[in-house]
Amino acid sequence: MRIAVAKEIEVSERRVALTPDAVSRLVKQGLEVWVERGAGERAFFTDSAYEAAGATIGDTAAVWSEADILLKVSPPQEKENGQPEIEMLREGSVLMAFLNPLGNPDLARQLAERKVTSFSMELIPRTTRAQSMDALSSQASIAGYKAVLIGAAALPKYFPMLTTAAGTIAPAKVFVMGAGVAGLQAIATARRMGSMVEAFDIRPAVKEEVQSLGAKFVEVKLEEQTTAAGGYAKEISEASKQRTQEVVTEHVKNADVVITTAQVPGRKAPVLVTEEMAAQMKPGSVIVDLAAEQGGNCACTEPGKDIVWNGITIIGPINLPSSMPVHASQLYSKNLTSLMQLLIKDKALQLNFADDIIDSACVTHAGEIRNSRVRDALQALTVNS
Ligand code: NAD
Repeated sequence: MRIAVAKEIEVSERRVALTPDAVSRLVKQGLEVWVERGAGERAFFTDSAYEAAGATIGDTAAVWSEADILLKVSPPQEKENGQPEIEMLREGSVLMAFLNPLGNPDLARQLAERKVTSFSMELIPRTTRAQSMDALSSQASIAGYKAVLIGAAALPKYFPMLTTAAGTIAPAKVFVMGAGVAGLQAIATARRMGSMVEAFDIRPAVKEEVQSLGAKFVEVKLEEQTTAAGGYAKEISEASKQRTQEVVTEHVKNADVVITTAQVPGRKAPVLVTEEMAAQMKPGSVIVDLAAEQGGNCACTEPGKDIVWNGITIIGPINLPSSMPVHASQLYSKNLTSLMQLLIKDKALQLNFADDIIDSACVTHAGEIRNSRVRDALQALTVNS
């Protein structure tokens, strides 16, 4: 069984799918690991570190075409010479990566056509048993942490309260909107940096978690169910959106830093900070919009840009986990190796679709798209094109 690690060609992607430590553990289990030359470079893992861990360093074509399991971070894409990376994959091989299958169902179609068995890390169920494989969580947590650092760096103020001979500095006020994995890490980080933190989420279940981190939960009583299957948020009605805006406007207005993290799976991110709300913020205050890539939680966000709008700094970062490639790769490696432990028995691949993790994360197998949501997304794409 040959496991291979691809080099990411996406310009903004600095993470690598396996670290040398993870390679060493797989090699000790009797598995053969190949690493594409330079794959770990941008995450500060050298080819010689991989070799010392027992990996064979190989060139692109060999690594891709001879892999039984190919590990990546970003979805395969077109190479500089125009060749799609996917064409280098061998029929019957396995691909594991963030494949964005609901956002890009055509990739799933191509993978099925090539008879590649693919696993999408976004589709690992959010269950206790799958926790060690939950790459969405490991990476979202990094984004939440980094968002606070970016916000603090852009704020023309201290975060903590300081009592000095030259006077007392009041702590910064941070308002976190959306208290899922990224939001909770943002709250914890902002608290550790000494700021006063408030947080809001449409799922009332997070109230206790927010409070246990030392933040104040801003409660909005809504007359509808806001939680869908799997604990995710549902898209709320116009009336509920208006009601939440009425309550949160005051908190946005008073905040020095607003960090937004709200997402609804399969939908554009909800707008939580309208232009009118942003216009009421104090000059010098900061918004860090972690949903920038999905359209933004703030109406003024420009994805991938830092802008100054009406005297406030609005930051719309893209792929924050990639900005901390060492730990992001370490955690992602653990997620991938945990998934592989489930799939590899006696050094051979065993796909037991009765296992809910394998069933839900496997997008394509034996020429078929297995996941019904991805099939629906592909159909919608075909109908609309
Ligand atoms: P996510 O990235 O989909 O969304 C982030 C947050 O935004 C969520 O808390 C959501 O409720 C909130 N949100 C959505 N619309 C909003 C709106 N209009 N206003 C305010 N907030 C809004 O969520 P996530 O971080 O991936 O977590 C999703 C769920 O999965 C949570 O219930 C989480 O506890 C659960 N989870 C479970 C496990 C596990 O059991 N192993 C692991 C990770 C996450």
